[in-house]
Amino acid sequence: MPNQLPTTYGQRLRIGYGWDSHEFKRGIPLKIGGVTLDHPRGLGGHSDGDVLLHAITDALLGAVAAPDIGSLFPPSDPQWKGADSAVFLREALQRVEAAGYAIANLDSTLILSEPKIGPHAGAIRARVSELLSIPPDAIGLKAKTPEGMGTDNAAIAHVTVLLEQRRNAAPQGRRSPRKQPR
Ligand code: MG
Repeated sequence: MPNQLPTTYGQRLRIGYGWDSHEFKRGIPLKIGGVTLDHPRGLGGHSDGDVLLHAITDALLGAVAAPDIGSLFPPSDPQWKGADSAVFLREALQRVEAAGYAIANLDSTLILSEPKIGPHAGAIRARVSELLSIPPDAIGLKAKTPEGMGTDNAAIAHVTVLLEQRRNAAPQGRRSPRKQPR
């Protein structure tokens, strides 16, 4: 079973991909990337419905071949009702670090009919930067409208991440990475 295998294979780079979608619902807050946006409709879901943080979480988990977000935080478990999705992200980041990796960069695309993301992009990248402890210029954030897709009632997020092995985290029994000349 992949989930029982160690997640450190001595590979210098690993890639991860995550995808998520949530349906718009009236009367609930809209949270994207850990930021609450002023909008009449929010994203439904068992947690706070933060489609971007969920996709980032799955991308990180996938990069170290960990179980996915739905397996770690089942919607059937009442403790995750209304949960702040930053909790899921933190767990994924801890698994990345435990496997000996650090985030090099991530890129994301949101697909939603409204609201316009441009005016909020700075705040979202700043919050994601804070949550992941990486600089804002390591975070790509793009937004598209769902032209011709018929998904105006949903928000969709695609995320890719690149992980780099940390120099000081070589697993026991493997050769340490060569020291850089000074
Ligand atoms: Mg989700």
